[in-house]
Amino acid sequence: RNDDRESMMVVNSWAADYFQHVLHDTDEGLSVGMGYFRERGFTDATVRKFALGYCPAKGDAMTMAALGAGYKEQFLTETGLTIKRETGGYYDRFTGRVIFPVYSISGRVIAFGGRVLKTSDRTAKYLNSPESLIYSKSHSLYGIYHAKNAIVRENFCILVEGYTDVMRMHQTGIENVVASSGTSLTADQIKLISRFTKNITVIYDGDSAGIKASLRGIDMILREGLNVRVVLLPDGEDPDSFGRSHSAEEVRAYIEGHEEDFIRFKTRLLMADAGDDPLKRAALVTDIVQSISEIPDPIVRSVFIKDCAKSMDVDEQVLVAEVARKRHSVQ
Ligand code: ATP
Ligand code: MN
Ligand code: MN
Ligand code: MN
Repeated sequence: RNDDRESMMVVNSWAADYFQHVLHDTDEGLSVGMGYFRERGFTDATVRKFALGYCPAKGDAMTMAALGAGYKEQFLTETGLTIKRETGGYYDRFTGRVIFPVYSISGRVIAFGGRVLKTSDRTAKYLNSPESLIYSKSHSLYGIYHAKNAIVRENFCILVEGYTDVMRMHQTGIENVVASSGTSLTADQIKLISRFTKNITVIYDGDSAGIKASLRGIDMILREGLNVRVVLLPDGEDPDSFGRSHSAEEVRAYIEGHEEDFIRFKTRLLMADAGDDPLKRAALVTDIVQSISEIPDPIVRSVFIKDCAKSMDVDEQVLVAEVARKRHSVQ
């Protein structure tokens, strides 16, 4: 099994080089792939830094090159790079897509993401390598290898949704960034971050899906005992689009000016709905108490209980009792 794992990573490493070669050294790669990245405002330096690539549109070009170079079919299919046709022959999983290699903490290529150039209803915008011996989506974070030094240095980690969000932040000079890649954040992903820092700032897309995912993420992060702050982007923006239309200083200033702890984030977000309706305000308090009850550290809990009592104008002892009750009912 260990030999198989190593062979799969060797194949992935070869494939990452191949996709880069196609992107930078072939007519198709340059016009279609580099054309796409330049159109989106990514510099050649950013493209190189993340080892981005392009898979030719000819359906089995990558597989044929790999077999020709002596790589075994077994590892090409186990990594998911190659799909075997039932009628014989092969096709490349990522054919005609731009490629984002996914690195492990130690810098090995464990998977790929591939994006179509033009979105349509017919094909998924992003395609990922399948789960395998070397890749578990719920245990990995896009960008962790490129971010880990900056995360330690800055003692916090910015969490975004997507590949291009990570790239844009780097291009803006902000390097302590990782992406959960669309799926809802898992406890294992948070544990990965907690090896480097206990502080997470969530900057998800400024749409209803992003807000919902932020709310879910907050409770997960609190449960793992980490500190969480949230930045809400303007409506319809994601870190990529926002970073493209703002300078590095403006992005930093926006983050500093809009960071909120989870109580303030929830309060502001949900208060707008609740207004003066006492029942709705009570439901909001219940929601916040739920989040507070996830926090493992009793001192941190009590600080947030005080904060919530003050900002929602409710009796602190009632909150203390309610948090205690919730903690007993989950354990
Ligand atoms: P882009 O700016 O390239 O259009 P995005 O990163 O803004 O993409 P979102 O729709 O906001 O795309 O999704 C966030 C992330 O979720 C993506 O970067 C990708 O990792 C993941 N994702 C999105 N759509 C899919 C999909 N159809 N299948 C698998 N993962 C996806
Ligand atoms: Mn989105
Ligand atoms: Mn997005
Ligand atoms: Mn985007």
